Amino acid sequence: MKALDELTFDNRFARLGDAFSTHVLPEPIAAPRLVVASPAAMALLDLDPAVAETPVFAELFGGHKLWAEAEPRAMVYSGHQFGSYNPQLGDGRGLLLGEVYNEAGEHWDLHLKGAGQTPYSRMGDGRAVLRSSIREFLASEALHALNIPTTRALCVIGSDTPVWREKQERAAMVLRLAPSHVRFGHFEFFYYTKRPEQQKELGDHVLAMHFPHCLEQPEPYLAMFREIVERNAELIAKWQAYGFCHGVMNTDNMSILGITFDFGPFAFLDDFDAHFICNHSDDQGRYSFSNQVPIGQWNLSALAQALTPFISVEALRETLGLYLPLFQAHYLDLMRRRLGLTTAEDDDQKLLEHLLQLMQNSGVDYSLFFRRLGDESPELAIARLRDDFVDIKGFDTWGELYTARVAREGEVDQQQRRKRMHAVNPLYILRNYLAQKAIDAAESGDYAEVRRLHAVLSNPFEEQPGMESYAERPPEWGKHLEISCSS
Ligand code: AMP
Ligand code: MG
Repeated sequence: MKALDELTFDNRFARLGDAFSTHVLPEPIAAPRLVVASPAAMALLDLDPAVAETPVFAELFGGHKLWAEAEPRAMVYSGHQFGSYNPQLGDGRGLLLGEVYNEAGEHWDLHLKGAGQTPYSRMGDGRAVLRSSIREFLASEALHALNIPTTRALCVIGSDTPVWREKQERAAMVLRLAPSHVRFGHFEFFYYTKRPEQQKELGDHVLAMHFPHCLEQPEPYLAMFREIVERNAELIAKWQAYGFCHGVMNTDNMSILGITFDFGPFAFLDDFDAHFICNHSDDQGRYSFSNQVPIGQWNLSALAQALTPFISVEALRETLGLYLPLFQAHYLDLMRRRLGLTTAEDDDQKLLEHLLQLMQNSGVDYSLFFRRLGDESPELAIARLRDDFVDIKGFDTWGELYTARVAREGEVDQQQRRKRMHAVNPLYILRNYLAQKAIDAAESGDYAEVRRLHAVLSNPFEEQPGMESYAERPPEWGKHLEISCSS
């Protein structure tokens, strides 16, 4: 266990120099205080969780203090936003403070979001509000607990600094951890500004730091691209399987590591709805829940375009062709597990689509359905769940198909089935209304609810005594919350 002043820095990205990032100091927020910290994320830096309560913790992550070895930098990138190319993006309000390596030899980027203006702020104030910082914190740690790859969040620091959005709010900072903050948009920036040497420097850096095994392949860039395709196919399969809607899948929000990155107006589905749009400024539904699958491929194509100086178009095209089959295989595998199936049959996809259509028509709660399906034997579970469906006859038909499907797997020990299914079907999900209740309390200075919710979501598969209210369907007011896109 380390104290805060014992972190070891090795700032590899900063050493790439000024073509890739700009030195900027954090701008402190007034009266910084701890809102919430994640002991699990602190462990990634070997930090003693008790240090979160010390004043110096809030000072460091509120921009007042800095380690002598930190080298705060704003990274430059560009990207496709809602399908159109934006040539100039970059860290407009976040800073890469440095890279810390832990006792296990892993490097972690320390990225402070809401740290003030940078050369990439455009018209923005460089700040993040408490509301969006809490949402990013909760989502990162909740996704991680669901085994979905994501950036992590160390803490949220609140303040007295006023910030104007639709109304006056308070500034906050969230400390984000990731093995890399390189986005698809990094490669696009050097491609579209026609700087092949720097693009190669970036590519070689990413290869050496994050895909060293690809260096042994005959075409390292192609091997790396293939892995980026594989990782993103798997990531999006997990989002779809668990009902996570990202909301702003612009290429500047896509990680080369295939981890969930940059949280905006995201949402987990309450009722199943394939057409769900969580981002209210997304009029066309470009980033609707079911569109996440083709958009994943669209984004990978944008990255492929930027990699044409290194990889032949035929090879890129062929590799992109892997995305959909990989996605489908991962998705079906996950959904079979969610259904409690341990073998594969040709008609499983049909059985699943049949169920989702029924859920869609009846507005059935996506997460709770699967959880309850594992509670009891298939017959009993179906008998209990049928009341949630408007088309009861339709659901009964599905129930018979499902029960027969389970029976074909042979003798079922219900105890084991329940255990197996509960291990993949969470009881607790970060529902928007739960986040909103925690935010409302935090905005009036009470952080207990954020901390409690974080603790519950850190263990989503285990029943937690006394926490029953976190596992309920949302109340009517909580189903259609408009989450502001300004953050
Ligand atoms: P996002 O939509 O959060 O992914 O951000 C898109 C771009 O806008 C990135 O370059 C951000 O750094 C920048 N940005 C977002 N909010 C602000 C802000 N309040 N101040 C400065 N830049 C911002
Ligand atoms: Mg972004």
